[in-house]
Amino acid sequence: MKRISDRVDGMAQSAAILVDQKVRELTAAGRDIVGLGSGEPDFDTPDNIKQAAIDSIWAGKTKYTSVDGIAELKSAVAQKFERENSLSFKTSQISVGAGGKQIIANAFAATLNPGDEIIIPAPYWVTYPDSAKIWGGEPVIVACPQSQGFKLMPDQLEAAITDRTSWVIINSPSNPSGATYDADELRALAKILVKHRHVNIMTDDIYEHIVFDDRTFATIGNVAPELADRILIVNGVSKTYCMTGWRIGYGAGPEDIIRAMAKVQGQTTTHPSSISQHASVEALMGDQSYIGKHVSAYQRRRDFVVGELSAAEGIDCLMPEGAFYVYPSCAGTIGKIAPNGTVLETDEDFALALLECEGVAIVHGAAFGLSPHFRITTAAADEKLAEACKRIRQFCAALT
Ligand code: PLP
Repeated sequence: MKRISDRVDGMAQSAAILVDQKVRELTAAGRDIVGLGSGEPDFDTPDNIKQAAIDSIWAGKTKYTSVDGIAELKSAVAQKFERENSLSFKTSQISVGAGGKQIIANAFAATLNPGDEIIIPAPYWVTYPDSAKIWGGEPVIVACPQSQGFKLMPDQLEAAITDRTSWVIINSPSNPSGATYDADELRALAKILVKHRHVNIMTDDIYEHIVFDDRTFATIGNVAPELADRILIVNGVSKTYCMTGWRIGYGAGPEDIIRAMAKVQGQTTTHPSSISQHASVEALMGDQSYIGKHVSAYQRRRDFVVGELSAAEGIDCLMPEGAFYVYPSCAGTIGKIAPNGTVLETDEDFALALLECEGVAIVHGAAFGLSPHFRITTAAADEKLAEACKRIRQFCAALT
């Protein structure tokens, strides 16, 4: 008998995690690798947050907590929504888990029956389809190419909705494309969703603070309050507060879904680390002034990388509006031959040949459901980005 379940056997491993593993292996073997695969801020967690964690340990806050978050953190999350999004949530509408990733998994576990469909615009964050599949969901991928700014169009949404649609996912700013919906674009999608009362909306706002060119962040619950009883907001402290390792994410939405999510979490991980929860209260309520400085750095790096890659032969790069990724097209390199003899038939060939020939690790577009592209993380030191761009240009120039 097969030991591994069909469900898990058919699951993809996170491409970004695989690239990171490869970078570690090659570096250990003595290769000079520039790794731009992983999606986390290169800035350290701010000191006030670290101190709050230390204080909580000495105050003995090291025991089990309530399942989906301590009262102080739920209250801090509710205040964050009031302050930043003009949205009011009771604490019974808020759930805290071990990262945005667990919030998404809990929501799917709590709501999906076999065959339920989840509309996922591509390019998408790699976790959505596989997280849904674990719980019997069927991803419905809608291609949103560069020519439409990597954004879901209202007619595409309408065409993708069926009687089985359980969720549509909106991720803005997007990982991997940086596409960011403005209020009008969200209103246009909401106009379709109002007509289809059985469709729930999962809006992944985890990059909400990282928006560029003085843009204002908009979230669908705010522009379309009539959808409030069907919206689950996914967010967390990982990206904004440079806390990826602390594992705190939160969700806000309808009470019945939040209650069911807590039931799932109560039978799996119980709650995230008590210490991380106390640190996250400080993250949300303490000094926020460094966020703007980080965003300026991400914007400067975005400008540099887009400029450099646009000058590379065969690469076409759209200017991301938010997040810390660039998602260029490598269509102009497909069919060419790399210096190591590889014929570039796919974006995965491009990524592997780039790694082998020039030692630059990026993630190929197929992993995000839209080819031929690749994703570069711009949350990296300026020198590292400069070196990577130089090598990518060299690689592209050497293709025949
Ligand atoms: N959503 C998006 C779009 C992401 O890119 C990530 C992390 O890469 C997450 C959610 C989850 O982050 P975490 O589980 O660290 O909170």
